[in-house]
Amino acid sequence: MDERYEIQIGKVCVLSTKDMLFNFLKPKNELENQGEFAENHPYIPEELWVKCPVCKNAILSSDLVENHKVCPKCNYHFRIAARQRIEMTVDEGTFNEMDAEMTSVNIIDFPDYPRKLRSAKLNSGENESVITGTAEINGEKCVIAVMNSQFMMGSMGTVTGEKITRAFEYATVHSLPVVVFTVSGGARMQEGILSLMQMAKTSGAVKRHSDAGLLYITVLTDPTTGGVTASFAMEGDIILAEPHALIGFAGPRVIEQTIRQKLPKDFQSAEFLLDKGFIDAVVPRNDMKSTLAKLIRLHTESKEEEAETDECV
Ligand SMILES: [Zn+2]
Repeated sequence: MDERYEIQIGKVCVLSTKDMLFNFLKPKNELENQGEFAENHPYIPEELWVKCPVCKNAILSSDLVENHKVCPKCNYHFRIAARQRIEMTVDEGTFNEMDAEMTSVNIIDFPDYPRKLRSAKLNSGENESVITGTAEINGEKCVIAVMNSQFMMGSMGTVTGEKITRAFEYATVHSLPVVVFTVSGGARMQEGILSLMQMAKTSGAVKRHSDAGLLYITVLTDPTTGGVTASFAMEGDIILAEPHALIGFAGPRVIEQTIRQKLPKDFQSAEFLLDKGFIDAVVPRNDMKSTLAKLIRLHTESKEEEAETDECV
C-alpha cells in the first residue's frame, strides 16, 4: 500500500498519523514559516531534536550533548567523533597532540583512493583515522590514541599504524601507560598488503611497551572489527568496552554463510563477549573517565610500592 495512503470516511479525508507528523515537522517550503502558519505553529528547527535509533524517542540535542551523547531514555550510546571523545575523557588543557600533520598517500596507486581521502578529510576535519597524544585523566599522565569513525570508518592504513606505533614507542621511552579507544571497519583495502602489515607493526610496539612493565588499556567502541580487532584492540592488559558495542573480526552475515549455522542472539555485542570472558568490563560512557583514572592510579601505585620494596631489600 502507498505510504501516503488516505482513509476515506464518508466525505471527510483523514490523513494517517505518520503524514500528520510529517507535515508538522517538515514544512513543505519556507514560506510556511511566515504569516498565519507561523503564528499558529511554532517553528522547531530539526537540528534541535535527535531521534534515538533504538527507543525512537526524540531527544533535545543539548540534553544529548550534556549526557555525553548517551540516550537518557534507553542508554543507547551514539557514535561520537574522536575530538569529542578526547574532550570528554582527558582533563581540560592537558592534551598535546602528536604527529598531527601525518597523512596518507596513494602508495599502491589504487583507483579513486585520493578522492576518498580528500572526502574523508573534509567529512572528519582530520588528517587520519586516529588522533594520538599525551594527556592527563583526572591527573594521571598517559598516552592516548583515539580512532575516528568519521575518517573512512576508522580503517587502518599505513599512517594509522605508524601513529599508533609512535604513540607506544613514546610511552615506552617515557614510562607512561597507554589508553586506546578503538573504532574501526578493519584494514584499509586501498593500501593492500601494506595495511595488513600494520597489524604486525603495532603488535610489535605493544609488546615492547608490555616488556617494559607498562600498562595498556583498550576501550572498544562501536564498531571494532577486522584487522584492528585482530591486533592492538585485543592486546590490552585490560580490555574495556562501551555498552552494546559491536566487536568482532568478520561480520555476522559472512560467518553465517561460512559455517552455515545460525548465530546466537547478541553475537559480537560487548555484553556477549563479556559473558564469554573475551573482555574485562562493559563501562558506560559517563563512568569511563573515572574508571580509566582509577585503573591507571592502581597500577602506578603498585609499581611505586614495588620500587620502594626493592629499595628496602
Ligand atoms: Zn533511546
